Amino acid sequence: MFHLSAYNLIITNSSSSNPVAIILPGTKEQLLASITCCKNAPCEFIIRSGGHSFEGLSYSAWNHQIFVLIDLMNLNRVLVDMESKTAWVEAGATLGEIYYEVSRASSHFGFPAGLYPTIGSGGHIGGGGWGLMSRKYGLASDNVVDAILVDSNGRLWLSTKSISPSG
Ligand SMILES: Cc1cc2nc3c(=O)[nH]c(=O)nc-3n(C[C@H](O)[C@H](O)[C@H](O)COP(=O)(O)OP(=O)(O)OC[C@H]3O[C@@H](n4cnc5c(N)ncnc54)[C@H](O)[C@@H]3O)c2cc1C
Repeated sequence: MFHLSAYNLIITNSSSSNPVAIILPGTKEQLLASITCCKNAPCEFIIRSGGHSFEGLSYSAWNHQIFVLIDLMNLNRVLVDMESKTAWVEAGATLGEIYYEVSRASSHFGFPAGLYPTIGSGGHIGGGGWGLMSRKYGLASDNVVDAILVDSNGRLWLSTKSISPSG
């Protein structure tokens, strides 16, 4: 199966366009190298975290262009720090993986995000993220206190604070 984290079955039918390659980075260094490589290739690249885009935005490129899929499913580490009451979450971690790790660290804590456990944190938090705890605690994105970013040119924007799960 080529759509490794394809949850939108409306999009994954026989007429959907297929990526020419699927890259599965497992560290942020591999992600940087993947993006740099794709920038120098004559095709588009698309990022997928959990594959729950309603519009199929992580399933095809604009105007049916040839594309490479960078699937973040292996960038899914969640590191909970009970002292600071925060967690570092990689973009490919699903909401279920976040809820599981937070509840393993303490049954008194949670994270306000969506209901469906296989949604990816990357697409979800990037778009806001509403869930059952949102009336009291706001959107998932309201609760982001720090981030390490990789931009579309393959540049890394480091956090000024702690170390992320992948170092
Ligand atoms: C069954 C189902 C239940 C849902 N329930 C809720 C809910 O309870 N609450 C709620 O608020 N929303 C809900 N949603 C909506 C969901 O939060 C959004 O569709 C979200 O964008 C999905 O994120 P994803 O990473 O799984 O999807 P993806 O398809 O992987 O990504 C969505 C978009 O974000 C981009 N993207 C993904 N990761 C990154 C990244 N790391 N950096 C930059 N761009 C990225 C993709 O290229 C794509 O354009 C639900 C959706 C589904 C299908």
